Amino acid sequence: MKIESKTVHWGDRQKPGSYIPVTTPIYTAASYVYDSMDQLDRVFDLQEQGPSYARYDNPTRNALEEVMRELESGAGAIACASGMSAIHMSVLAALLDRPKRVLAANMMYGATTSMLMKIFDPMGVETTQVDPCDLAAFEAALIATKPGAVITETIANPLLRVPALDKIAELCRKAEVPLIVDNTFATPLLVRPLELGASIVCHSVTKYLAGHGDVLGGVIISDATHFDTIRTLSRTIGPVLGPFESYLTMRGIKTLALRYERQCANAIQVAQWLGQHPRVARVYFPGDPQHADSAAIARLFPKNKFSGLVAFEIKDADKPKIFRFMERLKMIVRATSLGDVHTMILYPAMASHRDLSPKHRERLGIHENLVRMSIGIEAIEDILADLDQALN
Ligand SMILES: *Cc1c(COP(=O)(O)O)cnc(C)c1O
Repeated sequence: MKIESKTVHWGDRQKPGSYIPVTTPIYTAASYVYDSMDQLDRVFDLQEQGPSYARYDNPTRNALEEVMRELESGAGAIACASGMSAIHMSVLAALLDRPKRVLAANMMYGATTSMLMKIFDPMGVETTQVDPCDLAAFEAALIATKPGAVITETIANPLLRVPALDKIAELCRKAEVPLIVDNTFATPLLVRPLELGASIVCHSVTKYLAGHGDVLGGVIISDATHFDTIRTLSRTIGPVLGPFESYLTMRGIKTLALRYERQCANAIQVAQWLGQHPRVARVYFPGDPQHADSAAIARLFPKNKFSGLVAFEIKDADKPKIFRFMERLKMIVRATSLGDVHTMILYPAMASHRDLSPKHRERLGIHENLVRMSIGIEAIEDILADLDQALN
C-alpha cells in the first residue's frame, strides 16, 4: 500500500469485539477487564496485546501509534503529551545505558536546545553543538566527543537548512551511536529517517500531522533496539497523549497527504513570487536550486516537494518595520506554530529565537529583517494578494 493510502487506513478496525467501528472511537476508560484473569495476566506481561491501564495502553492512542509506526517504518511508536515530551523521552532512552554526552545540531528548535542546556546539563549530560550541514565538522565532533546520542532535525528552523541525513546516519552507525531525528517539519511524506539508518524519530504532532491548530501532542517512533526502553520509560513515567488528542491527531493524519501536497505546491509558488518581489531581499526555501544544501535535498526529498515552509528577508526592514508589515496582513495568521491548514507567519527574533542574544542570532544568520512562513492550503491567489498588500 502506498503511504497516501496508509495515512487513511492504518491503525483503524483493530477488532475490539464482534462488531468493528470503521474509525477508532475515543476510549476514555482508565482500566479494562477481561473474562479471564489469566488473559489479564498475559496482557500485563505484554505476552498478549490489549489495554489494561491507561498509562500503559489506550485503544485510541494505540491506533494513532500504529499508523505512525507504519508511516515512519519503525518497530514501535509511543504517542506523547507534547513534541517536547517526545524529544525528552528520546534522549532519555538513547542515553539510559550509554555515555552521558549528546552531540546536537546547532540549529535545533529553541526548546530542544533549552532542554539540553537547562535540564540535561545540570544532571551531568554534556552537550556539544555542531553544524549538521558541515559533514566534516560533524564527523570530527563525533570522533572527538564520543557521544551517547546524536540529535538533529530533518529541516532546521528558520533558515530551512537540510543536513545530509543519509551521510549522518551512516557515520552514526559506524560509530555505534543512536541518531535521534526530529522529523516535524518534513513529515514521513518527505523523509523517513529510520529507513536512512536513524534509530529514533520524533515529531511534534501539533504541527503537520494533526494539522488544524487544535492539538498539542508528540510521537516517538523507533527501531527494534530502542523500542523496549522507550515503552518502559513511557509506561513508568506516563507522559502519554490523551484519548481525545489521539483521536484528533489520527483524524488529521487521514488528510495529511492531501494537505501536505497543497502546502508544498503553494510554498513553491510563494517562494518564486517572493524571489521576484522588489521589497524582498532574500528568500530561504529548500526548493531553491541555489540552496546551500541542494545536493542533500535532491537525494533525500521526493521531486517537487520541499515542505510548506518559506523564510524571507524584507529589504531595509528593522523590528518596527517588520511588526507593521505583520500587522498589515489580513488573512495570514500571526502565530507561533506551523503546519496548519491556514497560512501562518512568525518573527524568529521575537518568537522561536527570542532567548538568543542579538549577536548570537546574527552569527546563526537570523537577521532582524527575517520572517518565517508556514504556507497553508488556501487558494494561492489569496496568499499572494495578502502578502502583496502588506509588503507595499
Ligand atoms: C513545535 C516543535 C517542537 C515542540 O513540540 P510541542 O508539541 O510544542 O511540544 C519540537 N520540534 C520542532 C521542530 C517543532 O516545530
